[in-house]
Amino acid sequence: MDHSLDDAREAMLRRLPAVGQLLQLPRVQSMISSYPRPLAVEAIEAAVGYLRQKILSAASATELDTLDLGSDFVLSLIAEELGRRRPHLRRVINATGIILHTNLGRAVLAPQVAAAVSMAATCYTNLEFDLATGERGSRHDHLEGLLCRLTGAEAAAVVNNNAAAVLLALSALAAGREVVVSRGELVEIGGSFRIPDVMAQSGARLVEVGTTNKTRASDYKAAIGPDTRVLLKVHQSNYRIIGFTSEVSLAELVEIGHSQGLIVMHDLGSGLLADLGPYGIAGEPDVRASIAAGADVVTFSGDKLLGGPQAGFILGRRDLVAAIKKHPLARAVRIDKLTLAAAEATLRLYLEPERAIAEIPALRMLTTPVSAIAARAQAIAARLRESLPGTEIDVQPGASQTGGGSLPAHDLPTQLVAVRPSPQWGSVADLERALRRQDPPVLARTQHGFLLIDPRTLLPGDEDAVVAALVAALAEGGGSGG
Ligand SMILES: *Cc1c(COP(=O)(O)O)cnc(C)c1O
Repeated sequence: MDHSLDDAREAMLRRLPAVGQLLQLPRVQSMISSYPRPLAVEAIEAAVGYLRQKILSAASATELDTLDLGSDFVLSLIAEELGRRRPHLRRVINATGIILHTNLGRAVLAPQVAAAVSMAATCYTNLEFDLATGERGSRHDHLEGLLCRLTGAEAAAVVNNNAAAVLLALSALAAGREVVVSRGELVEIGGSFRIPDVMAQSGARLVEVGTTNKTRASDYKAAIGPDTRVLLKVHQSNYRIIGFTSEVSLAELVEIGHSQGLIVMHDLGSGLLADLGPYGIAGEPDVRASIAAGADVVTFSGDKLLGGPQAGFILGRRDLVAAIKKHPLARAVRIDKLTLAAAEATLRLYLEPERAIAEIPALRMLTTPVSAIAARAQAIAARLRESLPGTEIDVQPGASQTGGGSLPAHDLPTQLVAVRPSPQWGSVADLERALRRQDPPVLARTQHGFLLIDPRTLLPGDEDAVVAALVAALAEGGGSGG
């Protein structure tokens, strides 16, 4: 038995700060101010427990001597433990250049839209109350007028997301009947939304026509029978068929459908409401054109090119929209009040199209000229070169993406900040991982040995966090894993 080691251990354990003492320290109190008390106490206990374990397991007096019980180190342990107990949903910096990044929450709302959400969240509202009559109102009323004005549609309903909009519309209009769809349009959107599965769920029977690359008007005509109720056109969204192809335009489909008394439904996906032609962006159908072409029902998302909250919009003929609103499923997929507030505030911006493009973040990012992106990239690169003299930092041309299954074939030229860590530091994959561990985490792409920061998707002021994250990550040391 080594009594002197035991004595040293005892002495060291006595010097360990008590959890109660730590909780009283002003520096600790400011660290824990935003944490629920039980989580804060747990974090401090874990930090002290870690030190106690270190003391108990030290194999020699020398090892004990190297243990740091200084307040800076104890506070850094507490900070680390608090980090493990942060809210699970966190802000991240999107440096990927993918504007509607589905995994990062798609569209970011404009500040004035967020203000409308905050009002609806913290106040009572006339959500389902008619202030003129004092009677019960409908939550659809808040958006219907605006949507009809913006698109030329007769009527509108809004639900939780576009997948729900398609399911609800098919359930209400075509259950037990046949719905004709081109084989080139049987799409899957992000895993669980597959047109054939949604069709089955709605109780409608899918009738496939044509082939993957070619579907003709005669294919639709031949498929129409006594049970047919809907001709459905689905926007291919996230892919394109190129080469030897043909598809039937919406206008032709409307002609065929209406001559036979059928409903023509268009699942647009993205819900473009602005004219992006002047910005050189074409190839995505817009809602107004779809209504003008005669579609009876049009569905689209709120958080793709519309740039608003997650929502599903159903526009079209008054009698059909009325049937959709009355279907029992409508209640199960109804829009909530926060989304409704965000949707109304976003749609109001579209009443002034230039404002919509300037102020809706997704549209602003999509239309930012490459010269403005280059200036941001150069400014970030200059700051990085100053802070990281040993690291290779360039600005290179590249491409951003729209994301969210929109404009898949449209390249958006951009300018990227390219960072190559020194081989001694570690690999570019290590750097990508280290950036994800910063607070806030920075998400970037890697390619050909470079870490790439695309300023297109940075929000105003994100530059500081990007620079700080890179400096901190490269100071940590790479391959060590952290
Ligand atoms: C994205 C998309 C959907 C699903 O919309 P969500 O709002 O994500 O539910 C359905 N149809 C098409 C064509 C789409 O592009």
